Amino acid sequence: MSMPAALFDDLAAIVGAGGLLRRDEELMVYECDGYTLERSRPEVVVLPRSTAEVSAIVRLCNRHDVRFVPRGAGTGLSGGCLPIRAPVMIGLSRMNRIVSVDLENCTARVEAGVVNREVTARVAPHGLYYAPDPSSQPACTIGGNVAENSGGPHTLKYGVTTNHVLSIELVRSDGEVVELGGVLDDGPGYDLRGVLIGAEGTFGLVTQATLRLLPLPEGYRTLLAVFDRIDDASAAVSGIIGRGIVPAALEMMDQLMVEAVEAAYHFGFPKDADAVLIIEIDGLRAGLARQAQRIEAVCREHGAREVRIAADEAERAALWKSRKRAFGAVGRLAPNYCTQDGVVPRTKVPEILRIIRRIAEEQRLRVANVFHAGDGNIHPILLYDERDRDQVERVLVAGRQILEACVALGGSLTGEHGIGVEKMDLLPLLFAEADLDLMRRVRRVFDAELRSNPHKMFPAESAGVAVSEPQRRAAS
Ligand SMILES: Cc1cc2nc3c(=O)[nH]c(=O)nc-3n(C[C@H](O)[C@H](O)[C@H](O)COP(=O)(O)OP(=O)(O)OC[C@H]3O[C@@H](n4cnc5c(N)ncnc54)[C@H](O)[C@@H]3O)c2cc1C
Repeated sequence: MSMPAALFDDLAAIVGAGGLLRRDEELMVYECDGYTLERSRPEVVVLPRSTAEVSAIVRLCNRHDVRFVPRGAGTGLSGGCLPIRAPVMIGLSRMNRIVSVDLENCTARVEAGVVNREVTARVAPHGLYYAPDPSSQPACTIGGNVAENSGGPHTLKYGVTTNHVLSIELVRSDGEVVELGGVLDDGPGYDLRGVLIGAEGTFGLVTQATLRLLPLPEGYRTLLAVFDRIDDASAAVSGIIGRGIVPAALEMMDQLMVEAVEAAYHFGFPKDADAVLIIEIDGLRAGLARQAQRIEAVCREHGAREVRIAADEAERAALWKSRKRAFGAVGRLAPNYCTQDGVVPRTKVPEILRIIRRIAEEQRLRVANVFHAGDGNIHPILLYDERDRDQVERVLVAGRQILEACVALGGSLTGEHGIGVEKMDLLPLLFAEADLDLMRRVRRVFDAELRSNPHKMFPAESAGVAVSEPQRRAAS
């Protein structure tokens, strides 16, 4: 789709020449997110600095009958901000102000482009923090977190984005600015804030949000449990929670992942372990040592050969650095990787890991696993080389098979990375046509003309869009 020439000038008039990107080498950066199997370049990227500018851009797009796609930091892992017949990309990265902090009510008002970790950095000196902690938190934005309802390692105890966002300013796809939600916990009426969170940019653009802040825990205990059999590690996960202990985080890395992470960050992980668990408890200092002992006992009952407790804050930070940067370490294993995101009931973790191993063998692919084991939220990382078309095809097949298996085990297609372009065609595995129809109608309440992030999430609306054919740079 080609944009009317006048639109470029009108957009520049709103954001200034420095806020508009249209040269090929500039646009290349925006052709994909963290899901690199599919690519599509916008015709222009506009970088507004205020809600008023976002609204003016959207109204202009309406006048020219042009569709648009919101973008935060582009760390998404399902192709959510890929422009599909939406030539205008609206990047929120310059809207990065923390507007206000209300210490007494424990809230912060932030613009959508604020980077997740910046919120805690600002309020930590006051003993507060923002709980949702996606591993991408040094880069991803609050707007992207809202759009994807992001979680993180500490989701197990603290929940996901929707549990920590009180209200949201939204520029609807007709340009109107609305505020959804409020600072009171029990406001009357429909929870439109809740409906918007996880809508993946299909309702319009989030421009600001009021976040709930929590008091920093008084203390932490962070354990590393080492297992010779991944099945034992999985059983320990259910064992811990079965004893009534809810850790703040309960993460697993398999052997291949440990190998890559150790090579990259030198934490001291045993490279021969079949799996390791990172288990964190937090809260009042009194009682933490006792709880850590109970967790250690459960791990040993399930065959852990070693259980270490981080000696101090520096060791705890090093352990979390290794975990949260695990995806980055994967670059040592292969030129490309695709991170899958599925969910199974926690007790089915051993079974899905066996299935993943079988699928990897059948498709002749190497797969590393690092995931939120406590939530049953798996992240198999499929390694490949995009120059080899056959490998790319096998990655797509394996990804689909893994997700089908998750659903068959009573799980879901995504725990936190969203549907994006990657999983649109799989939605009918989870929802009946009547459910999908209801969701489509909800979407139209916010975006009657399907202008914001079109051809996403729903299978029928993607008809005619070649998203299943990756625009890869294959060798042949
Ligand atoms: C190394 C790595 C680790 C990750 N770890 C986690 C993790 O632990 N947990 C987790 O949940 N995710 C994780 N992710 C995925 C990703 O970081 C999250 O989905 C994140 O919320 C995306 O934020 P973003 O600002 O990069 O959004 P983008 O990728 O730019 O966009 C994501 C989606 O949100 C929409 N969007 C963005 N901004 C707005 C806005 N202001 N208004 C409306 N729609 C908007 C886009 O259109 C798109 O559909 C990880 C990604 C990477 C690369």
